[in-house]
This record gives sequence, C-alpha cells and structure tokens, in this order.
Amino acid sequence: MKVLVLPGDGIGPEIVAPTLEVLHAADDAYDLGLELETADIGFASLAREGTTLPQAVLDRIPQVGGVILGPVSHYEYPPRQEGGINPSAELRVRYELFANIRPCRSRAELSVLRAPMNLVIVRENTEGFYSDRNMYAGTGEFMPDADNAFSIRKISARGCERVAHSAFELARRRRGKVTAVHKANVLKLSDGLFLRVVREVAAEFPDVRLDELIVDAAAAALIRRPDEFDVIVTTNMFGDILSDEAAELSGSLGLGGSLNAGHDIAVAQAQHGSAPDIAGKGLANPTSLILSAAMLLDWRGRRDGNDALVAAAAGIESTVESVLDEPGSRTRDLGGHLGTAEFAGHVVARLRGES
Ligand code: ATP
Ligand code: MG
Repeated sequence: MKVLVLPGDGIGPEIVAPTLEVLHAADDAYDLGLELETADIGFASLAREGTTLPQAVLDRIPQVGGVILGPVSHYEYPPRQEGGINPSAELRVRYELFANIRPCRSRAELSVLRAPMNLVIVRENTEGFYSDRNMYAGTGEFMPDADNAFSIRKISARGCERVAHSAFELARRRRGKVTAVHKANVLKLSDGLFLRVVREVAAEFPDVRLDELIVDAAAAALIRRPDEFDVIVTTNMFGDILSDEAAELSGSLGLGGSLNAGHDIAVAQAQHGSAPDIAGKGLANPTSLILSAAMLLDWRGRRDGNDALVAAAAGIESTVESVLDEPGSRTRDLGGHLGTAEFAGHVVARLRGES
C-alpha cells in the first residue's frame, strides 16, 4: 500500500514522525508492504513553492492507497491568491471526502465521565456552514453592509444520503444504533431535509435503530449518559463541535483519531489542530494521528479485502490502548510526564515485541 504523508504545520511534523515509526513497526510485524512517501504542504511548501498545497501533491493523491495529513495552521496562511490554501478543507471538498469518522472512547481513569463512552461521530464533511466558499467573494459568508453579516449553510439530499449510508454501515458492524443529531426545531428547512434523508436511509437498514436528538440535548447527553450513543450522524459544524467535546471527555483532544473518507480516497487526520501553543516542544500526544493512521489501514484493508491491513490496524489500536493503560507511559495532556517521542517509543517497542 502506497501512503502519501503530508506533515503540515505546528505540531504536525512532531506527531507525523512517530506515526511513521509506528507504521514501519506495523509493516514489519504484519508484512504489509507499505511504501511511505512524504511531500511538503503548509508553510513548508509556501516558502519554497509559493503555495500551501502544491499541484504535484493534488495530482499524487488519487494514485496512492491513502494519505496521512498532519494538522495545518490555516488561520495564519496568507490570502488564497498569495498561495494560502487550507489543505484540509480543499482535500475534503475536491476529493469528496464526504464522511469524517471520529471515534471517541473513554479509558477508565483518564475520563471524567460517570458512564463509559464508546461512540463514533460521523460528520458530514463537504457542506453545511463550510460549503460554497466561492458563492460570495470566495467564502460562504457575505456582508451587505458593514454592520450586517450572513453565513450560508448548504444541506443537500446527496450530501446527507452519502454520510448517512456511512453511518448506518458502520453501526451495522458495531452495536446497531444511529443517533441523528440536528437542530430541526430552528433550522426547519435545512435540518428538516437532513432528517428526511436520514430516515429514508434508515429504511434500508431495518437491523439498525435510528434515534433523533437535538444538538443541544446531545451536547448534554454526551456528558450525562454517553453510554447511550453508538454512532452519531450529523451535519458538518455540529460534528466538529461535538467531536472536540467527546475527545476531551475521553481524556484529551490528543486521543481522538479521525478519517476523512470518500468512495475511493481516504485521508487520516488528527481530530485536533496544529496546537501552536505547544509546537516545537516535543510535548504533543501523537495518539490521535497514530489512531488515525490505523483507521486508514483498516479502511483500505476492508475496501481491498486485505486482511493483513485490517489486522495491523487492530494491532496498532490495541497496542496504543495497552500503553495508555499504564500511568507511567502517558504524555502530559493526560497527566503523565512523557514527551512525544518517548510515548511513541513505547508503542513501537510493544509492536515489535520488545516490551
Ligand atoms: P488550530 O487553529 O490549528 O485548530 P488551536 O489553537 O485551535 O489550533 P488545537 O490544536 O485545536 O489548537 O488545540 C487546542 C488545545 O488542545 C491546545 O491547548 C493544544 O495544546 C491542545 N492539544 C491539541 N492537540 C494536542 C495533542 N496532540 N497533544 C497535546 N495537547 C494537544
Ligand atoms: Mg482548534
């Protein structure tokens, strides 16, 4: 399997390097035949090529089995016409990576929750408030005058249908329950359409139960009764916000793996951003990107009927969990004392059977 690796900005390169070490160890342990190639994006390529997302990278993506994308500091990029493209947003829309799959599970003593959480948020990834950025002067927002601003939120039947399918297929492999999170009491037309389409898709999955929940109630329920959720399907911005909440409830934002998946292309990407406050210090928890990379192997393995990739993904995940189980082998965001490289060293050693 060919994997294109894009290290990104901030803590990106710091968490990508140990993720690649973990992949090399998994490659040796499971005989995967991984071919990893790295290309610069973000500030690294802006300096040399005048753009944060070079055309050569875009051309390469459809030719590889998967992409690992480090976090990017797109808020700080120059304007688009000066080469400042948000790689994350651009890849999601350009390659129709319509489902952002974000698992969150509580680990006993790391979580503040009273009940166990083991859920997956499936977030629509191409529209909502993030869509139609070219509709009004290059953004989904416009100001008719200096004191009034509007945001455009696009919900389409096609967008809802494909993300709902991903959610129901996933629920079928898990505990058989989907919760559709919405705000249809206020957003009557757009979230009304979302609910209509989710119900239509649900009819194709009689073995999966569908619940519906308003987003504010969902935010509260994640804290009070997280064990009631299996798969959550929701629109783009609600999914963004709820997944940060769920990851933090699980112990740290640094724990949440995430995969942007389309029909044929998938991009592994940590749930968190570029964390400029801790960049360059070797403190970041690389778990999120390591688990994201495992999700990529699992996704490709299931698509291609490659059992070794699926087994390697499960092996990486259980190894990470076993390392996280030990208080002495945790990073600082979890109250431990390890740096990025030391933590990853434990994962690699265990994957190689050395500890
Ligand atoms: P961005 O604009 O790129 O999203 P941000 O300032 O919002 O950057 P995030 O990356 O979203 O920062 O992080 C939010 C907080 O969580 C920061 O305090 C950051 O240090 C912390 N954090 C995020 N990721 C990790 C990680 N992998 N390990 C440890 N702490 C993290
Ligand atoms: Mg952020």
